[in-house]
Amino acid sequence: MNVLFVAAEAVPFCKTGGLADVAGELPRALLPLLPKKSKIISFLPKYAVIDAGKFKLEKSGDVLCHKDGEHWTCFTQNEKFYNRPGIYGEKGSDYPDNDERFSFYCRSALEFCKAAGFVPDIVHCHDWQTGLIPAYLKTLYAKDSFFKKTKSIFTIHNIAYQGNFPKASLEKTGLGWETYTPDKVEFYDHVSFLKAGLVYSDVVTTVSPRYAREIQTTNKFGRGMEGVLRHRPGRVKGILNGIDETNWNPANDPALDPKFSLKDKDLFEKRKAGKLKLQKEVGLAVDDKAPLVGMVTRLDPQKGFDMVAEMIPKISKSHPKVQWIVLGTGAPDIEKALEKLVVNLRGLLVFFKGFNDPLAHRIYAASDMFLMPSQFEPCGLGQMIAMKYGSIPVVTPTGGLADTVTLDKGFICPEISTPALHKTMVKALAAFKNKARWKTLMKKAMASDFSWKKSARQYAALYSKAAAVKSK
Ligand code: ADP
Repeated sequence: MNVLFVAAEAVPFCKTGGLADVAGELPRALLPLLPKKSKIISFLPKYAVIDAGKFKLEKSGDVLCHKDGEHWTCFTQNEKFYNRPGIYGEKGSDYPDNDERFSFYCRSALEFCKAAGFVPDIVHCHDWQTGLIPAYLKTLYAKDSFFKKTKSIFTIHNIAYQGNFPKASLEKTGLGWETYTPDKVEFYDHVSFLKAGLVYSDVVTTVSPRYAREIQTTNKFGRGMEGVLRHRPGRVKGILNGIDETNWNPANDPALDPKFSLKDKDLFEKRKAGKLKLQKEVGLAVDDKAPLVGMVTRLDPQKGFDMVAEMIPKISKSHPKVQWIVLGTGAPDIEKALEKLVVNLRGLLVFFKGFNDPLAHRIYAASDMFLMPSQFEPCGLGQMIAMKYGSIPVVTPTGGLADTVTLDKGFICPEISTPALHKTMVKALAAFKNKARWKTLMKKAMASDFSWKKSARQYAALYSKAAAVKSK
């Protein structure tokens, strides 16, 4: 079976969020589960941030290639579109020509297959940047015998990002005006790349069963696509993301000193040493008894910052020892709100603006609790990573948070609201005082199996099922 895996970001090459983790890790987990001699090729734009020398990219035809054993990643090149500092934009604003940048990407994914003689059984597309591929396959390439047996699977990692562009963008995509109708790519007088993916793909999936249900209900979750999804034959399947032990394992994490594992007799001492070290590094009072609450996240309203900004000062009044460490980048107004908290909380909250992978690893490893009160959360990797690293998640009951955090290893708000978050935080802080209970929670959390094994099996089954359907 040949699979073209298309996602606009992937570790280790470039990353802005969880999509990159999934796109980098899932193919590796999937390949051994596919029939013998199967091939998966990942396909990305060659952004300027991807260091061709470091990754030993080799030129092959029009693309650059990276070989990691059996798994290849190929990069489409375009000076005009990709030779800039950002992936999707800069300083909190999207690039205005993202319609052209990602139309080009989608076209070049299919043209790459033809040039390489790689006939895909499955093109697995992820998020709006790849939404035009299923549309191209069913329109511009519908009569192309090269793609006769190709099926497309579209995975929604976040339905809030839709790639909606003005009507005039349709011309730039190469699609004909007959596709500009409400049952195809038109969405409130815009061209929606996401909708193209949802409408034209053979199978639609998303990254947790709960989110699959949520996005078919109200506008809050479905963002206007709920009707489109409800009317799709077969609807939407939810397959939980996993996390990869090669990237996320406290026992051999190069960012940690000391490293630790659930098997260590001195696990708690080692973890404590890491916490004290981080407190020192970031300028918090060095005190093991002070509960340390971490956040590692994109700064986006999705992540519940309205509730966080109200809850933290309240908790600080009733629990003056609690320390907060936030690492994130994104919306300027959220950065400002956090900077205000830094001033108001005088030494109790530190905020690191930017993307910093090693610091992220240390926060997961050193914090006692991991705060993730999302308004909605397709899957969420942060809470899973936190649990594997012994940081107890405090989350809202939505999407993948609800599907992965259980009461024996975390705290779940009864609803999504500031009072509920405040109450749950108070409960977690009370539990933290009971050392024996806390250790039990930590051990349970660290023993969780969030590996890709189960999900990869589900994707492999889905690929086989989709490939077996006879093309019309
Ligand atoms: P989302 O995909 O919505 O951004 P997830 O929880 O699914 O959220 O995935 C976020 C991923 O990005 C995690 O691996 C997290 O550690 C990482 N991450 C987010 N923000 C930062 C940051 N500022 N620095 C380093 N890593 C980050």
